[in-house]
Amino acid sequence: MLIKATEVLRDYFGYDSFRTGQEQVIESVLQGKDTLCVMPTGGGKSLCYQVPALVMEGTVLVISPLISLMKDQVDALKEAGISAAYINSTMTSEEYQETMEATIRGEYRLLYIAPERLDSPSFTNRLQLMNVPIVAIDEAHCISQWGHDFRPSYRNIRKMVSLFHEKPVVLALTATATPAVREDICSQLTIDEENTVMTGFERENLTFSVIKGQDREKFVIDYVKKNEGEAGIIYAATRKAVDHLYEVLSKRGVPVGKYHAGLSDIMRQEGQEQFLNDETSVMIATNAFGMGIDKSNIRYVIHYQMPRNMESYYQEAGRAGRDGLKSDCTLLFSSQDVQTQRFLIDQSLDESRIPMELQKLQSMVDYCHTEVCLQKFIIQYFGEEDVSDCGRCANCTDTRESLDVTEDVQKVLSCVIRMGQRFGKTMIAQVLTGSRNKKVKDFGFDKLTTYGILKGRSAKDVSDFIEFIISENYLGVEHGQFPIIYVAEAGKDVLTGKQKVFRKVSVVTKQITVDNP
Ligand code: ADP
Repeated sequence: MLIKATEVLRDYFGYDSFRTGQEQVIESVLQGKDTLCVMPTGGGKSLCYQVPALVMEGTVLVISPLISLMKDQVDALKEAGISAAYINSTMTSEEYQETMEATIRGEYRLLYIAPERLDSPSFTNRLQLMNVPIVAIDEAHCISQWGHDFRPSYRNIRKMVSLFHEKPVVLALTATATPAVREDICSQLTIDEENTVMTGFERENLTFSVIKGQDREKFVIDYVKKNEGEAGIIYAATRKAVDHLYEVLSKRGVPVGKYHAGLSDIMRQEGQEQFLNDETSVMIATNAFGMGIDKSNIRYVIHYQMPRNMESYYQEAGRAGRDGLKSDCTLLFSSQDVQTQRFLIDQSLDESRIPMELQKLQSMVDYCHTEVCLQKFIIQYFGEEDVSDCGRCANCTDTRESLDVTEDVQKVLSCVIRMGQRFGKTMIAQVLTGSRNKKVKDFGFDKLTTYGILKGRSAKDVSDFIEFIISENYLGVEHGQFPIIYVAEAGKDVLTGKQKVFRKVSVVTKQITVDNP
């Protein structure tokens, strides 16, 4: 059957060979094993069920959360001569009935459905009349509370699968690889964890950078100008920011499009198509843009603001360089972003999930302050071990000198302890810099021996330094109503002098002009 799969790959899709992982997934599915496929965005997950759909008899059922993605995929399949259809809320009841009947007659190789369909028993009952060899679950992390996009309808999948007389093979696909999410997907869908195929999360053609303390607007204008004609996406956290940047770049004559949930369907679709067809080179968007977008020549992804977790970041940044050519992923960080994201989390989620989301936000903030290889930080976050430095990212190529900052870290840690380990970053920075703030005095912190111990440095500078210490895991953050900073286990070794801490600093060298004799 695998030989047939290779023929299908060539004849229908025009590719000579499988990419890493694809062959194992397809083999596992063809052997009838329920399988979890974990591959980064752009890794080629779709082929893992599209190829078996042409090898096996019947209709592969694909559960996919996004209507726009379904339509694109079905169009692309039809173009390749593969009969496929979708069922979603945009169709009339006649169209729905026709598609269902044609599928029951066995006219389609693939049928895409939105997960919400599974909430309807009349729909799932009719599914049993179809010959379904495989149920493919795209964006399978949506089944997990630990994922970043939980969708209750996904919880109906297991039951739906059990309704068939002949049980279909289950293939779950995701780009989210945190161990907790992987385990949860397997347990919810009763997939044997051994049948997980996970390909490396490193993207060798991507160069990651984090830029702090810059005028972001100016940065974007300069960057876009320097990369004129190249395709890029600029992600902003709010619609307002998207609209603003769109104005700024349009005024400068940049061929730019925009995309956010506040625009009409037509405007969004037009914007997307113009970008896909290279009519506009830059797309400014909120995170509503991009799922399922298959544009291979995106040369850069800039995050104008920090996103809310590493999962979203890697998925969005990973849209750069799908063609394998060198591409840049730049994140512009400002400490206000943390407040913005905290606000959005508080607004949008049910309360029980907030602590976990805040923990994820903290990892994102750590990413922005770490001095370890950025690609390594990401991959380790997703649970891969034994990762080496990428040698390309802004941290790997940072030539600034590393200074021993152990003593300053000790000062911060002892101040945190003396303040009772129950305050946030701002208050700690105020005490360390000797602020005359009323609150500092009310708590009697001006009497502490650590009061003003970092005088001469700005509160912002000390705040950044605290973030750096958190990212190195010497300080921890507890997310309650307000974030509270405490000394972590590793911090104790710094306090006792067992552990030294180094930090990269900019050394300003004086320019010496030598007069010609
Ligand atoms: P994912 O769903 O994992 O994000 P896709 O399935 O959309 O990724 O695939 C990303 C791109 O890679 C698509 O343009 C696809 O055509 C291409 N691709 C997938 N498999 C192969 C292959 N074996 N050889 C060449 N290109 C491939």
